Formats: sequence, structure tokens, C-alpha cells
Amino acid sequence: MTHFTDTVELNEFISGLPKAELHLHLEGSVQPEVWARLAGRNDPHLSVTPDDIREMLKYNSLSDFLFAFMALTSCFREPDDFRLAALECGRELARHNVVYAEIHTSAAAGLSIGIPPREIMDAVITGLNEARSEGGPEWGLIVDVIREMAVKDQGEIGLELAMEYRNRGVVAIGLGGNEAKIPTSEAAALFRAARDAGMHRTAHAGEAAGPESIRQALDIGAERIGHGVAAREDPELLCLLRDFRIPLEMCPSSNVCTGAVASMEEHPIADYLRQGLLVTLSTDDPPFFHTDMNTEYARVAEAFDLSPAEIIQLSKNAFDAAFGVIPKSGFRF
Ligand SMILES: [Zn+2]
Repeated sequence: MTHFTDTVELNEFISGLPKAELHLHLEGSVQPEVWARLAGRNDPHLSVTPDDIREMLKYNSLSDFLFAFMALTSCFREPDDFRLAALECGRELARHNVVYAEIHTSAAAGLSIGIPPREIMDAVITGLNEARSEGGPEWGLIVDVIREMAVKDQGEIGLELAMEYRNRGVVAIGLGGNEAKIPTSEAAALFRAARDAGMHRTAHAGEAAGPESIRQALDIGAERIGHGVAAREDPELLCLLRDFRIPLEMCPSSNVCTGAVASMEEHPIADYLRQGLLVTLSTDDPPFFHTDMNTEYARVAEAFDLSPAEIIQLSKNAFDAAFGVIPKSGFRF
């Protein structure tokens, strides 16, 4: 550690830094204490403790992570569960000095079978507004559509929802799901319709598939790339991302946990930053990947010996790459 005298100084620097989080899934942001509460209130016969949940969050593979994710998200049974998740999400972000967040929600993906998507959206908005009124971040919502839905022509449900709520906080439509199974290009019609409607677009790409997935995302009109790890396999693509200032929403701890990279030290984030790409830092599904915003900054700073100026650049990039309106006052770099 050459730029900071010790980790205490580094951590203080990071905590004091105002941050914007651009890639955070609401359903993946729920802390063990809140999962235990949701499980308990939906099934009083069930006795689940936060420590039980922490045990579930220990895994070494993508399939085990997906199993835990599906098991826990099945705890969402009522609209108010989403309000509580959103409220706690906003509170947690405030603890990490996140002053602006763009939060993905899978309301349109049928995650909570039986709850109408609009009731989920209303509940999420209520929860985020409650958090904001307590000093939580300004926020925008990204309505995520999974590829499996997009190719079945159900993407329009997501777009419809995004359009309906654009005056209440929705800033973009997102594309998730398994890019290794369903090519990103399959979402072309959805993204074209979103563009025609003036809706911003971001796509997970280059996380579980190669650089061709990122190229496809750009071809269909994605304005930001979620992850983009695989871009390093295609030097021309890297130049394109840099020259056109395409923001990358990078989530290193997530990539280590799911095996997209072997270790934090092998993550390309610092290389990209030093090559002048518009790299941003986010947490994806923080409790699932044993991270949070301050921890994520600290891990990257330590792994790559980032200078204070580089850490500030990472944060500023996220504000520059935001789709929504950023609060102009109340924080300083
Ligand atoms: Zn994600």
C-alpha cells in the first residue's frame, strides 16, 4: 500500500467519498436479517435466523449461487415485502455514502409469482422514497427483462411497465438472464422499441459470455454494459468502448464469486480504468457476493494499489454514466 499509510486511512477515504451505485439488483440487495424477517412473517411456522441465511450464502459456483438466489427470493410473497426490501436497500446505501443509486428490479420478470408487477413497482417506489426521506439516496429504477422473456416477445411487458413508471422514477430498461444460453442479439426488437420510446438501455454482457456478447449489446443499442469483463479478449472492442465513452458497470466481487474471473487480482477493472475507459464500480447483489459499496472500493483499491485520484475517478465516472438526474448539491469530491 503506497498511497495510504494503512487500511484505516484507506477506509476513511472511501467512506467519505460520495458514491453512485449503477448496478444493484433490488432482489439481490436484501440482507440476511431482512430475509429472516420476510421468511418469518410469511410463514410463522418457519424459524429462520440471519445465521441460517448466512450459511446459505456460502458457495463456490454459479449454480449454487443461483440456487440460493432462487430459494431466498421465493420469500417475496406480498407487495409490502418489496417495500421493506427497498427501504432497507436505501438505508444500507446511505450507510456507504451512496448519494445516488440506479436500482434494477425484476418486477416484470415474474419473480414473485402471483403479485401483479404494478403492485411490486408501487411498493418498491414507496420503500425507496421512505428511505430517501430518512436521508437515503436519490434513486432511479431500471426495469430488468431477462433474455428468456425478451425472446418470447414478453419483453414488451417490461417495456410497458418501464414506460408507465417513467415519471415516477424509472430511468431505463435492463437486459439480464443467461447470455451464454440466449444471445444478446435476440433482444434486438425489445431494445429497438425502447430506443424508439426514448427509454435508456443497459445490458448485462461479457460476464458469462465472450466479447461478441458485448458487441451484440452495442449493436442492438445498449448505452451501458453490465460487467463487460470479456472485452479484454478483443482489443478493437476495448478501443471502441473507450472512444465512444461506453460506461461499464463493473462488479468485481460478483465476478469472482460466479467464476467470471479467477480472483480479484485478475479482474480487468484497473487496466480498463488506466486505459481511459468509462469504468464504474458497483456491487450487483451485495450480500450474495459478500460485499458492500465501501468494501468493493477498498478491495479494488488494495488489489491494484489505486491512487486517491484513481479512486475518485471511479466514483466520478459513475455520476457521469448515470441515466437519471443527479443531485447537484449536498456532496463534494
Ligand atoms: Zn447484475
